[in-house]
Amino acid sequence: MVEKEILDDVVAYRQELKANEDEDKEQPFIKLKEQNVRDDKGLKPKKNPGNDTHYSPSDPDAKMSVKPGKPTALNYLGQVSVDTATHTITHVQVFTADKRDSECLAAVLRHVKSTLHENGIALQEIVADTGYSSADALKALQASGITGYIPNRGQFKYERTGFSYNKSGDYYRCEQGVKVNYRGTYLTAGYWMKLYSAGAKNCLKCPLKDTCDAYKGKKVLIKETIDKPYYDRMHIRMQTRKAKILMKLRQSTVEPVIGTLVNYLGIKRVNSKGLEQANKCLTIAAVAYNLKKMLKYQPKLIGESIQNLKQPLINFLSTMLSAQYLNLSI
Ligand code: SF4
Repeated sequence: MVEKEILDDVVAYRQELKANEDEDKEQPFIKLKEQNVRDDKGLKPKKNPGNDTHYSPSDPDAKMSVKPGKPTALNYLGQVSVDTATHTITHVQVFTADKRDSECLAAVLRHVKSTLHENGIALQEIVADTGYSSADALKALQASGITGYIPNRGQFKYERTGFSYNKSGDYYRCEQGVKVNYRGTYLTAGYWMKLYSAGAKNCLKCPLKDTCDAYKGKKVLIKETIDKPYYDRMHIRMQTRKAKILMKLRQSTVEPVIGTLVNYLGIKRVNSKGLEQANKCLTIAAVAYNLKKMLKYQPKLIGESIQNLKQPLINFLSTMLSAQYLNLSI
């Protein structure tokens, strides 16, 4: 019964791939959106290719994205969650490539948490790189009761050189005594920012004028995100010894797994179309990776360890194979 279901799926999947290949021969892979085709004078649009200028007529889920050192291309964004203790994959999910890593974190957390919970494991801590840092991601972590170790982005300023902050009065004061008061909150580029300002008449004779970040000629201006308390807490946590150890552990855990998926399990390119199919490809690759890992596992006490492994293995297989993307049952 199980085999038949799997075989049916494989046959259907092979037919889909074949159909996609035929379609590819007929249609160009990337097309210009109508408004970006050459104008009456035959001039090309000046903008770099992006999702507002280009799309794939045969695979609308594929989005333009660019990684450092690589050309802009139609891609999907795969997220992989790995257990640092056993190096096994706990969750994989594909998103459209127009999303940032930080925008995917809440969904990934939700899945990992529920998968581990089904297996009697509580998710308490996660470690991720700077790409996952955003106010929404930090809020999602806090709401889930999970401690995150995610370095803040480079532009974040925990302290302002030469300024001290008065929390009760919500104002800054510089070394020369100029008080910079809170003036209001405004929305810019999708982010809510707090604005602090003061007149610059006391700055004219200030010896620090040339190096002062807040001095803007006629005014003293300080802008910062309203979500600074979230970033501040993360900044303090990231100064701990544990955070430094975890960041090294992340590098030696997640990166090799991603490398294996890309270089040995065929995830560099998905020969399918649509988000659902891409999810299938990544899920199957993750299942293959985990099975290989488990087969290589060498227990110290064989008899006892096999008994210990039996239930987790059954749980793992049922979780991965009954994942929403596969729609299989065992
Ligand atoms: S330039 Fe103005 S705000 Fe900056 S340190 Fe000097 S007095 Fe203070």
